[in-house]
Amino acid sequence: MSREVANRGDGSAGDLSRKALSLEVSPTVAVAQRAAAMKAKGETVLDFSVGEPDQPTPAHIVAAATAALQGGRTRYTAAAGIPELRAAVAQRYRKDYKVDFADHEVAITTGGKHALYLVCQALLDRGDEVVIPSPYWPTFAEAVRLAGARPILIPAQEKEGFKVTARMIGKATSPRTKAVILNSPCNPTGAVIDAEDLLVIGDMAQRRKFTVLYDDTYAKLLFGQGPESALPALRDSIPDRFVLLGTASKTYCMTGWRIGWIMGPKPLVDASAALVSHSTQCPATFAQFGAVEALNGPQKFVQELAQEYRRRRDFIHGALAAMPKVSCALPGGAFYVFPNVARYVGGKVATTLDLAGRLLEEQKVAVVPGEGFGAPGYLRISFARSMDDLQEGARRLGAFLEGLGAAG
Ligand code: PMP
Repeated sequence: MSREVANRGDGSAGDLSRKALSLEVSPTVAVAQRAAAMKAKGETVLDFSVGEPDQPTPAHIVAAATAALQGGRTRYTAAAGIPELRAAVAQRYRKDYKVDFADHEVAITTGGKHALYLVCQALLDRGDEVVIPSPYWPTFAEAVRLAGARPILIPAQEKEGFKVTARMIGKATSPRTKAVILNSPCNPTGAVIDAEDLLVIGDMAQRRKFTVLYDDTYAKLLFGQGPESALPALRDSIPDRFVLLGTASKTYCMTGWRIGWIMGPKPLVDASAALVSHSTQCPATFAQFGAVEALNGPQKFVQELAQEYRRRRDFIHGALAAMPKVSCALPGGAFYVFPNVARYVGGKVATTLDLAGRLLEEQKVAVVPGEGFGAPGYLRISFARSMDDLQEGARRLGAFLEGLGAAG
């Protein structure tokens, strides 16, 4: 899925760097663009490719940002963010997880994606290796490559619910391992890591001298037990090797606001802020004030959001599991299911990439093929959609697969 850019090789502005040429278009974005083009032509597409809540940002958060704008908060802030927001993030984690980061150990970023990019730029050198369990969110690998380092992908197994274990990580690390990226709940599988495994990985990080980059983007969208109880111990035992990457995007329905954060050792936080000072300058000021309200204000709707997603997960997982020759691990969190449709591949469609393309053309249903997550044979379906859409989408997918017929 490399970018189809022919390099001119003539020294002009069309003569791109090796770095730019090596970038792969995010498969999620590619599907979303095709679906958007179909919608623009007036076609009704059921779009399960998008990774964002379908609810609007809660009104009290919008009001806080509006008040900030009206109150003249329209200037630059410090590169690491406004003190109120750094404090609000630290306070939220203290309250919710008993994880203690000082305010100066928090940097505010322009979304969670930017937090990952900055940490990779600040931490990695050429020759470094970063272990990433797969199926994986593609930006993990791209951010590592953009920093000149090498992603080492290690497969998690469907039969174990795609759970990432300390054993898997132990086998994959080497003296070149600079970091391990953990994402719980996981995009695209919804798998949740166990607290015990997290603690053992922490011990390994100490002994083998690597950093744990823990992406908790979906931590509040959890349907059962999570690894939260291990976080304070991890913070205490490896304070210089534990980095939390978070975002307001999913928990507070704020994807377009672009507010995320890095929590970790001060040198890393300061280096990230220095990178910001020479690139984006600071996250948008009024968005930061909105995020203060998100983190300090009432949290009840977050629980309601998680409950609603649980209802949708139960429905879509049940519908997929009932389809013949489809298997589907039960997601423990986030808003994605990752069904295995490999038994429909090899006959009328050669790959899940083809399958997803035909599903979109013929049934007007957009899903992301597993190839983009390092897992051909699977589809990622976002269930951050209305129940009506989920019901109709499941019906169309079932009919489509039946029409294809199992390949073997
Ligand atoms: N981490 C993971 C695992 C994600 O799925 C996403 C969003 N797709 C992010 C980080 C970043 O989200 P944002 O940039 O909107 O904060």
